[in-house]
Amino acid sequence: MSPSAVPTLLSPLDLGPFPVRNRIVMGSMHVGLEDDPKHVPDLAAYLGERARGGAGLLITGGFSPNRTGRLSPRGAQVTRALPRQHRQVTDAVHDAGGRVLMQLLHAGRYAVHPLAASASWGRSPITPFRARALTRRGIVRTVRDFAIAAMRAVQAGYDGVEIMGSEGYLLNQFLAPRTNRRRDRFGRDAEGRRRFPVAVAHAVQEALGPSRLLSWRISLADLVEDGQDAEEVRALALALQAAGVDVLATGIGWHEARVPTIVTSVPHGAFVSLTAALREVVDVPVVASNRIHTPELAEQVLASGQADLVSMARPLLADPMLPAKLLQGRGNQIVSCISCNQACLDRIFDGKKASCVVNPRAGHERELQITPVSPRRARRVAVVGAGPAGLEAAVTAAERGHIVTLFEATDQLGGQLRLAARIPGKEDYALALESWRMRLPAAGVGIRLNTRPSPEDLLAFHDVIIATGVRPCAVDLPGFAPTTDVAAAPVGPRVLTYQDLLEGRAEAGERVAVIGAGGIGVDVAEFLTAPRPSLTLDVEAWKDRWGVTDPARDRGGIRPRTASTASEEAAAPRREVRLLQRKETKIGAGLGRTTGWVHRAELRHAGVIEHRGVTYQRIDAEGLHFIEDGRERVLTVDTVVICAGQESNDELASALEAAREGKVPRIHVIGGADVAAELDAERAIRQAVEVAAGL
Ligand code: NAP
Ligand code: SF4
Repeated sequence: MSPSAVPTLLSPLDLGPFPVRNRIVMGSMHVGLEDDPKHVPDLAAYLGERARGGAGLLITGGFSPNRTGRLSPRGAQVTRALPRQHRQVTDAVHDAGGRVLMQLLHAGRYAVHPLAASASWGRSPITPFRARALTRRGIVRTVRDFAIAAMRAVQAGYDGVEIMGSEGYLLNQFLAPRTNRRRDRFGRDAEGRRRFPVAVAHAVQEALGPSRLLSWRISLADLVEDGQDAEEVRALALALQAAGVDVLATGIGWHEARVPTIVTSVPHGAFVSLTAALREVVDVPVVASNRIHTPELAEQVLASGQADLVSMARPLLADPMLPAKLLQGRGNQIVSCISCNQACLDRIFDGKKASCVVNPRAGHERELQITPVSPRRARRVAVVGAGPAGLEAAVTAAERGHIVTLFEATDQLGGQLRLAARIPGKEDYALALESWRMRLPAAGVGIRLNTRPSPEDLLAFHDVIIATGVRPCAVDLPGFAPTTDVAAAPVGPRVLTYQDLLEGRAEAGERVAVIGAGGIGVDVAEFLTAPRPSLTLDVEAWKDRWGVTDPARDRGGIRPRTASTASEEAAAPRREVRLLQRKETKIGAGLGRTTGWVHRAELRHAGVIEHRGVTYQRIDAEGLHFIEDGRERVLTVDTVVICAGQESNDELASALEAAREGKVPRIHVIGGADVAAELDAERAIRQAVEVAAGL
């Protein structure tokens, strides 16, 4: 292949009925704007912005073809009124030169309502309703409903549809022996199990006609026991191609799988080899997905011939301008998604609208506008503190045209985010920091490191944004005072703050007690026990840890539960770690819906010992004394790490308030300096953008 023939992210591609301007697909992702027609203008603004940013092909969140398939009682459905309602969505994308497909998704047994129906009766482990088995007549009606929904999508101006055939939804349920126990022609064997999905493909293709695109999201590894094997996936792909499917988008893992597939600790591109294997057997273009988060990796995937297009859903939530920045040679200023799921998927699973931690405008494009100011209106703005809130406030204000100086007391940018990036499995957090590092000078922000401005220094500014963050809370009990000075430390365990530990100012010993099991306590327990180098940087070791195999070897691409595993044998903990909390609730109860279970599994795997409902007493030469189940206990640990929350660092705000004597500057306190309880990067960055947008 000549060098010029090597496809790049920005090279166009003929998809069959029409070309797309580049190979960047905004993969389907429910954002909570699909369910209620009153949100259609917001959906149009959300997708339109991403089309203006240059994405080649955009796919909506899932819309059910009928009532039975809705995800929730009020979930999105293709109704008779949809063609009229959605014209503004398709116009918004087309006006910006993009192409848009509507995703048709039948939830099957994942429906959270009593109408749920699947291949066979039964309840999924993650939903409360027991699904009934679709009758043969019900199957025929469902095929027809998919075709009608596709026609309505075309009437609304969509360029085609994507059929959701993966993630464990109805069509995937028909394909896997795990959920299809039918003895009729829609079950029994692999050919029978794929009869209904293939019939859907035929009917939808016919409904769309030759000028519209049919994409099918195919599950390459179900990651559940009794999922499909590789031969079944291959046969399905060929049958779909024969039925007229134009593009195969790939999906990995059912929602009920106990293997993480998209959280930040999943290695980049962990599943691309499966897409590459699919590409070997089909002639239609294939789309790679799952943890392809950087344009560099996406380029590699394309250049190495592993896929024809790359799905970047969350990266485009984080930065709708990603394609445009690549085109303008500003790729290093792309706002990186950190795969935290905090404001997107966790919100959706809680029944709320999605947004993005690093881009609070996502899903709020109409309410939160960032408009440039004329040089005449530019204000002198000081931002104090370079954690996420301060960084975003500085960049947003400067990008609008204000004259911004950013002060940071230490010699580094990043605040709490820099500490988070040191946790094994959270390496991506450093990518977000890197994009701020690049965006600051590009926006013209003056950076003053190692500087603590006095209130008097700040009087020269029109606006001062105080983003001085937090400091760790102390525990007011005998012996709990932290110190990094070994010589001065009393006899007994060393007591450290989590900051001292994560900054590398002090080392933990072999037997450690972590006080406080909030987000940071859990992170610290993982920091102390996770293998080095981090499994996130080693795909094969990570797969072994989670029991991911090849669907050519094991059904579903998951190691059968009975098999002994290398990772279990190797799971001898690096050190003994105990995680303590006063509450009785389960450890990490406040963590995200889509990430908490992964952290808890990691703690179990590392042998972290949990103590709940404890009352601390003291730390002395014997160790850590506390009461548990009414009994006095002492842990003979050599290190105690305090992770007991934070308090605001807000003294500068009150000092400046006194110094300014009611005159300039205006003072804005944001992030942890404003509210330390439940310190939360999402709130901090949203506050930063709102304040900067209002200057
Ligand atoms: P946090 O979630 O408030 O947890 C602090 C823990 O310390 C509390 O759970 C509390 O548990 C304990 N504590 C509080 N006061 C104490 C005292 N005087 N003595 C002993 N224990 C005390 O705060 P964090 O862990 O510092 O996390 C800060 C924020 O960052 C949170 O919003 C968190 O969600 C977020 N975060 C999330 C993640 C993640 O999702 N993985 C990771 C890091 C941070 P008891 O009262 O029960 O003992
Ligand atoms: Fe990515 Fe987190 Fe934003 Fe979701 S909320 S798009 S995971 S940065």
